[in-house]
Amino acid sequence: MRVAVVGGGISGVTCARELMRGGAEVTLLDRGHRLGGRLGAQTLRETGTRWDGHIVDVGASYFTAASPEFTTQVNDWIARGIAREWTDTFHIADPQGVIGPKIGPMRYSTPGGLRSVVEDIAAELNGDVDVRHPIDVQQVTWLDGPLIDGERYDAVAICAPDPQSLRLIDETSNNLNGVRTVLEGHTRAWEPTMALVAVAEERYWPEFEGVFVNDDAILTWVADDGRRRGDDAAVLVAHSTAVLASRHLPEPIAAAPAMLAALRAVLGVQRDPDWFTVKRWTYAKPQSARPEPCFWDADARVGIAGDSWGGQPRVEAAYLSGLALGTAILTLR
Ligand SMILES: Cc1cc2nc3c(=O)[nH]c(=O)nc-3n(C[C@H](O)[C@H](O)[C@H](O)COP(=O)(O)OP(=O)(O)OC[C@H]3O[C@@H](n4cnc5c(N)ncnc54)[C@H](O)[C@@H]3O)c2cc1C
Repeated sequence: MRVAVVGGGISGVTCARELMRGGAEVTLLDRGHRLGGRLGAQTLRETGTRWDGHIVDVGASYFTAASPEFTTQVNDWIARGIAREWTDTFHIADPQGVIGPKIGPMRYSTPGGLRSVVEDIAAELNGDVDVRHPIDVQQVTWLDGPLIDGERYDAVAICAPDPQSLRLIDETSNNLNGVRTVLEGHTRAWEPTMALVAVAEERYWPEFEGVFVNDDAILTWVADDGRRRGDDAAVLVAHSTAVLASRHLPEPIAAAPAMLAALRAVLGVQRDPDWFTVKRWTYAKPQSARPEPCFWDADARVGIAGDSWGGQPRVEAAYLSGLALGTAILTLR
């Protein structure tokens, strides 16, 4: 059975691995130069500080693990030094500054950037799965079965944000109507985020791991990336509200003045970092996720997985969604 998986984020590589383990002949396609999707990391360069070479998580901040399946995976990453326990305690702030700590579930981070967990799963695919990237898939069509850009497969798994997945579905292929309808139902629910990376020679902010910012028009969250990574680099990552991000999508750096001002207020400091940049996420997160783990149309032989499935738009849900879709596709045999 030949199966194509579109998307090399955590849902896509997990789906591909499940299919590979089940004996399918798998092709994984992603448009990125590196796999990982929204588990995005950036290496600092030319910041004028001693932190060049430090890896920064510019996408997801951390992951949690509640299900037995993902907990087993996370424990394996921890045992091999790929992931580590970060913290169960974040702070809460309002626009005027930090209010106090809040204890929650254990949050996990990675010494090498969150992308390394995707790359670890991808390493297992090596040799058995045909991993092709960067390759920008244009269209999924249907003629006696699904085709990707004209290449025929027995089944297709689409593991990307709904608006990006919907763009791939050929409008003239009636057999794909079910898939299109499911995707159309969720495309408006996706929100953008800007991630401000702020670097200083020395720390100039109070000690914290991460801060949830409540009731602010500009920021939702600030992470201390040096503490998250474990090397204590003086690097912060602040995430914007969807409203601010949508105003600056064409020119992300234009969001910086407002984000820097809000950061000063939250940290209770007068100064700005020595270097900063802004990363845009057009489809950062769905506002909600459907309760089902994934979608599988056995007639069309096309399925959908990702973090807009499984109840919570998170890394763990994306992992479980990819796993569920891989399992569903294997029932074809
Ligand atoms: C700023 C931000 C903060 C977040 N914070 C957290 C957090 O703290 N905790 C948490 O659990 N989650 C967080 N998330 C959410 C988390 O990142 C996602 O839930 C998870 O990474 C989704 O994985 P995925 O595989 O479903 O999708 P993605 O990671 O988006 O993967 C989709 C892949 O599809 C590829 N693709 C898309 N279109 C095409 C095409 N036409 N051709 C080829 N390839 C294509 C993309 O290149 C991408 O690699 C955050 C996300 C963002 C952006």
